[in-house]
Order: sequence, then C-alpha cells, then structure tokens
Amino acid sequence: MSKKLFCRKNIIFFCLFAAVIIFAVFFFAQDPDNEEYYNADIIIKNVTILTLNKRSEIINNGWIAIKGGKIIDLGNGKHNYMSRETIYAEGKIAMPGLVNTHSHVVMTLFRGADDNSNLADWIFNMSDYEKEISKDDAYYGALLGEMEMIRSGTTTFNDMYFFEEAIVDSVKKTGMRIVVDIPFSFEKDGLEIDKSFIKCNKNFSTISFSIAPNPLINFSKSELDEIKKVISENNLILHIHLEEGEDEKDRFIKNHGLTPLQMLTDSNLLDNKVVMAHGVNFTDDELKLISKYPDIGIALNPKTNFKLSGTTAPITKMMGYNLNLGVGTDGAGSSNSLDLFDQINFIAFAAGKCGSDGDYCENKNNIYPEKIIRMVTTDGAKILGLEKEIGSIEAGKKADIILVDFGKIELVPSYDIYSSLIYNTDGSDVTDSIIDGKIVMRNSKLVNLNKRDIANIIKKVNEVAERIKLTHPIRFANYSLSRGE
Ligand SMILES: [Zn+2]
Repeated sequence: MSKKLFCRKNIIFFCLFAAVIIFAVFFFAQDPDNEEYYNADIIIKNVTILTLNKRSEIINNGWIAIKGGKIIDLGNGKHNYMSRETIYAEGKIAMPGLVNTHSHVVMTLFRGADDNSNLADWIFNMSDYEKEISKDDAYYGALLGEMEMIRSGTTTFNDMYFFEEAIVDSVKKTGMRIVVDIPFSFEKDGLEIDKSFIKCNKNFSTISFSIAPNPLINFSKSELDEIKKVISENNLILHIHLEEGEDEKDRFIKNHGLTPLQMLTDSNLLDNKVVMAHGVNFTDDELKLISKYPDIGIALNPKTNFKLSGTTAPITKMMGYNLNLGVGTDGAGSSNSLDLFDQINFIAFAAGKCGSDGDYCENKNNIYPEKIIRMVTTDGAKILGLEKEIGSIEAGKKADIILVDFGKIELVPSYDIYSSLIYNTDGSDVTDSIIDGKIVMRNSKLVNLNKRDIANIIKKVNEVAERIKLTHPIRFANYSLSRGE
C-alpha cells in the first residue's frame, strides 16, 4: 500500500470515529434518562425577580436556575438550561425566603392560651404551661410552627427554646433552615455545652448554632465571661432577650448593680455576633453605644410588644442610628401568628409610626418599603451571619426562594412591588417555597408532610391544649369569662 493511500484510509477512519463520538454525545445529551441531559435541578420561569442584590435589581420575565442547592444563574429572556423540574410562575414574584430573626417555634402549643395578660403575668403563666410539656409535645409544636412559617414565606428562623433536639428533628422533617441554640449547663467545672448536639447536626447545611442564656438576669458576671469564651471558641451567635419589659433595667440593677447592656459590655460580649430580641426600652445613649458594634443585630417583635406592653421599639430612631434591624415573630403564645408578612404589615401601618417622643415625625424618612423588606431578607440574613449564603437572589447563593402570587385580588394593581409586599401581602399569597434548593411547598401544598402527617400534628397539638386547659380549670374558666362567654 502506498504511503498516500494509507494516510487517506487513516483520515477516513478518523472521520468516521469522530462522527460516531459526536453522534453518541448528541444522542445521550438529548436523552432525558441521562444525567448529562440536565444542567439544572429546577428552573423558575416567566417570573418577576426581586433580587434584593446591592443594586436592588428587579428582573421582569426572568428565570432562575438552581442546581446542587444553589442558585447557579438568573436572567431574563432565553436561557440554555434543561432542568428536571420547571416552575412556571407567570404573574408571580420570586423573592428571597423570609428570615425570622427571633422565634420560639414550640410555643405554637400555647397559641391563645393567654391573650389578656401584661408581660409579667404572661411570663408567669407560660412558665407554668411549659412545665407540662414533653419532648414529644415540643416536636409536634415545632412541626406546627414550621408548617405555618413555610406556608407564609419564611425559610429561615433563629430559635430559642428548650427541647432543642426535638426542634432539630422537626426541621429535618420540614426542610426549614434554622439557627438553633445549643443546650448548655453550668457544672462544677464551669460551662458545659452539649458537644454531641453540635456533632450530630453540624453537617446539615440548613443548621447553624447560637447560645441563648435566657433569662439573662439569671446569669452572673463569671458565667457570662465563660459564655464569652465558648462563643469565641465556637464562633457562635449570642441570642438574647433584651430591654423587653419596662422594669428590666431596675431589676438588673437590683440584682447585679448594672443595666443589662452594661453587663454585656463588662463581659466583652458586644464584640461578637449578637441578636438582641425586642429592644423596646433602650435609651438614646444605649442606641448610640450599640451603633458602634457592627455585629449586633436587633430583632424587632412589634406585635408581641404591642400586645404585652402596649408599645414597641423606636424603629425609626433605630434606623436613624443605622442599626442592623431584623424582624421576629417571637412565639405564637404572644404574637399569635408566625407569619412574617403579618409583622411587617404591622410595622408599615403602625409600629414604625409610633413614638411618644415624636420619633416617627423626626425620622420618618428612615422607614420605607424596600428597607422593611430588607429587614426580613438581606438584613435578617446579616444579623444571623448568613449574608453570604442567603437573603438575596444572586448566583452562588443558596437557593432559598419564595413565590408570591401578585395575581391575587388584594394585590391588584401594584404600583410598587415593595409597597405591595408590606401593605397588601399576607402569608397566604405565598404559593411556592424552595429551601436549600429543595421544593418544600408547591402550589400552596407542603411537600415534606402529607395529609395524614398534617392531621396527626394538629391532633397532637390539640391534645396538649386540652391537657393544659384541664390542669388549669380556674384560669381558663376566668379567661372565658373575661371574653364575655
Ligand atoms: Zn422571645
């Protein structure tokens, strides 16, 4: 064979081989049974995207591609993604899942159990009921609360309660993202945190940790010093109730000779990531002091504060000091609802506008719709130290996304999306929720809990309520009388 013919044969063989490879690649790439066919897990299409990125971009006729728990791309018009699941979202807004910066999820068990007391009496009554609940009760209370949160658009919550193991079991069932407090105690050798609790849960991408000394007044200076050490060693958030009651400063001074904020300053606890829930009674000097610490966040709980104390934190003034503000629901035992839209609606209509000292009139330019939405998204995420992971819709962030149906009668027309969200939306307008890249609610139906699960949770929680009513017959008889029944 001549050298020339040999070369030609080789070329023909090579061309045929290449054609077979190209055909095989093309064929398999078009085969929906082949993993290579998909370059996304979920695509949300035809949606208006409220990104909450730094430029506050709003993308019309947009799409979001999700893969491996993360947002991998977003844009508008055409795209080149093939996904296992496509969500068509015409008429809907995609926005970051809401961040609840202060909750006691188990307290759904006590929803409506004391709606008429002031703060001190309410705490007394709740602590009575809390003695009667088991870990099992707490599990069902947490599931009920998480169902309510998912259905109303919350994807992350920062919780403080007992029965932490029951609570993490519940989030593993519902799929919610949580910052949970680590169980701890003071033993002979000092502070002991539950290391096995951390070990068992630290590998879940939806679980992170805080330490929550509650009530703070019960802790001595030396105990707070030890807490500081543990927080620094383990990079934990300090989650506390602060300045909720009118007499709180007096009680702290009586017990410790210091105000609560002075106690925290004394133990160098303000340098850390701190979530202060409530903050109703801070003085101007205290607000100025807090503004010097970039890692302190305040979780506003306006409905609880109005209900139990007839007032709320000076929100517009706090905004004037540029404090990091988030919003919490507290527990359903005080605020009755875990719907964060309900809380921001209350801030928009009332709580942001109160202030006996003319706070609102002086500072009303500080409070505006986008700012309030950021309090339950980007700012809430920052307060929890999760701003690199969640809080906005951007490529590279974890996919915690909700869809709000702007075709609902009460949302038509919409001149401004932010305004419609804070003044007109409630939790029932949320139709879909994705947490960590997994769909947890589709078309208003929970995905991880079926009908039978939900019926069982409701039954178990009702049984707890019946038990509590039976063990406090006089209290509940009086309660009914006070309602005129
Ligand atoms: Zn609370």
